[in-house]
Amino acid sequence: MIELKDAAEILKAAKKIAVTAHVNPDGDAIGSALAMMNALKNAGKEASVLIDDELPRHLSCLPGFNEIIRPNENDKITADILLVLDTATDRIGCVNKVVSAKILNIDHHITNKGEHESTYVDATAAATAEIIFDLLKLMGISLDINSANCLYLGMATDTGFFKYANTKSRTLRAVADCLDVGVKPNEISEFTEQKSFETVHTMVLALNTIELFANGKAAGIFLDEELTNKAETTEGFIDQIRIIEGVDIAVLLKCKKSGECRISMRSKGKDVAKIAESFGGGGHVRAAGATIKLPFEEAKQTVINAITKALDN
Ligand code: 5GP
Ligand code: MN
Repeated sequence: MIELKDAAEILKAAKKIAVTAHVNPDGDAIGSALAMMNALKNAGKEASVLIDDELPRHLSCLPGFNEIIRPNENDKITADILLVLDTATDRIGCVNKVVSAKILNIDHHITNKGEHESTYVDATAAATAEIIFDLLKLMGISLDINSANCLYLGMATDTGFFKYANTKSRTLRAVADCLDVGVKPNEISEFTEQKSFETVHTMVLALNTIELFANGKAAGIFLDEELTNKAETTEGFIDQIRIIEGVDIAVLLKCKKSGECRISMRSKGKDVAKIAESFGGGGHVRAAGATIKLPFEEAKQTVINAITKALDN
């Protein structure tokens, strides 16, 4: 593990930087990566973003989004530094293989154990974007509007637009600086929160699958293959059930095809990172996820059992 100022020095010394973030990318992953790319380019460096996954369309308003490269397994890219953001190096798909460079890992996940020497983890940061905000300062790079838009979205995403317990005065100070250089929160919300009619309709169908369990302390939305395929995005679905009175843990299960299910969990107190880790996933105390390789019905029962057991303890 290193200090953030060491990370700043490593980046200052590098000329060509490849930036990546976790597969199944969210606003913090893409926001942090694009903020870094924009800022590094402004500082006269060569920088690119590689993500080994499909990109969520609702983030396409971010400056630099269209430059994001989806690498091919057989590509060969050399760089001075591979900057891995918002995850440990195990969730970046083929980027590990494609890019040969020294790894610098910056993350805010408590489940990141720092396998690489140059790892900086601050689990008190609400978002990786919040760390990047500090990092740019340490590097002496002034905040430009493009980077600020990306950082704002990263912080907004991971705090549920500044509602979750990870929202700190430090977060809001960083956000205030973003607004000072021209970020318009209403414009970002309008773009990122808009959904197609079909998606809203699918949300209604998804909400119809809601089940309360663990004596009302947990609620779940369980999407089988058909519903998962229907949903262009499930962004925001879980927020509709985490608000239920008495519910501590909310879970969303979606199964892409038989034997390939994803869970997302949110909690008001219980450590869901622990539950996610028991499935080989990870995350934070109040927001975590995992991949479960089981058919839909079995995955559903396994998840219900694990959450019920956690709530009983
Ligand atoms: P979400 O439910 O929004 O996909 O993820 C919630 C949090 O858990 C995010 O911080 C995300 O990075 C983390 N997370 C989700 N899925 C996984 C996973 O499979 N492995 C790990 N290590 N973290 C995950
Ligand atoms: Mn994050």
